[in-house]
Amino acid sequence: MTALSFEFYPPKTDDQRAQLDRAATRLKAYAPDYVSCTFGAGGSTLSYTSETVRHLNQHHGLPAAPHLSCVGGTREEIRELLKLYRAIGVKRIVALRGDLPSGMGYPGDLRYAADLIAFIRAEHGDAFRIEAAAYPETHPQASDALSDLRHFKAKIDAGADAAITQYFYNPDAYFHFVDAVRRLGVEVPIIPGIMPISNFSQLRRFSEQCGAEIPRWIAKRMQAYADDADAVRAFGADVVAALCERLVAGGAPALHFYTLNLARPTRAVLQRLGHG
Ligand code: FAD
Repeated sequence: MTALSFEFYPPKTDDQRAQLDRAATRLKAYAPDYVSCTFGAGGSTLSYTSETVRHLNQHHGLPAAPHLSCVGGTREEIRELLKLYRAIGVKRIVALRGDLPSGMGYPGDLRYAADLIAFIRAEHGDAFRIEAAAYPETHPQASDALSDLRHFKAKIDAGADAAITQYFYNPDAYFHFVDAVRRLGVEVPIIPGIMPISNFSQLRRFSEQCGAEIPRWIAKRMQAYADDADAVRAFGADVVAALCERLVAGGAPALHFYTLNLARPTRAVLQRLGHG
């Protein structure tokens, strides 16, 4: 069976907490290697990630990895958070640059994810396994695709153990990316990030923000289904399961699911892949 990981976001209300608990309970049945919890930039949102990581670990018994981004933070703030994670038994961190809301505010002491990864290694040696982000379709702010590949390699050279990709629906983007970084000497596992499709208008919004391409044939079919939620879900699960099959057949070492704290869309894909 392919190794799995599931990504959640930190809930902020009681309803959202209950939703996360339902999703974590259902997805735990697939015995993920680990789950991860995203990180929002700045202020009071900081503690939500650590609280959620603790909850997933203690209440659900799931090994949980916090995402940690460096934009907007000082070295001292990041140092404190790393100390906390070490103290509560965190073994893995997804290390990112993050995005400043509308380009405002203090950019942070550390500028790029590679700087954060080097900082974690300098402060904590090999205490954490570090995952970096990868962009098979090129990061939207990159000046060009080749410099983006070099910047990706810099994160691995700084000490990342593996990478998780931004989601994509064209498997060739992943295979080309893996080939390109292997040619640069990168040997670490590159794990595809998988976004199940359940709400197409939300997906379109996300994709515009993060620069992920939705192939025309998928968009056209989704538009035709319009308000038929069952048809959207079934088609979305078929498309994403077929994508996963091609990725695994082509050598993808694991699959990382962006769950958006919902079990159903991820389960629909996993069932089609024969995972119970
Ligand atoms: P970097 O690797 O630092 O790259 C950012 C950009 O800078 C790229 O265009 C790169 O080419 C360029 N660059 C890098 N180094 C240099 C250099 N030396 N000189 C010039 N240009 C350079 N965001 C959150 O806020 N919270 C999350 O929890 C979160 N989780 C994520 C999980 C995954 C798996 C992924 C793929 C993304 C996630 N993101 C999250 C989004 C991420 O923070 C954004 O995509 C962000 O814009 C880039 O982060 P990065 O770590 O890839 O940055």
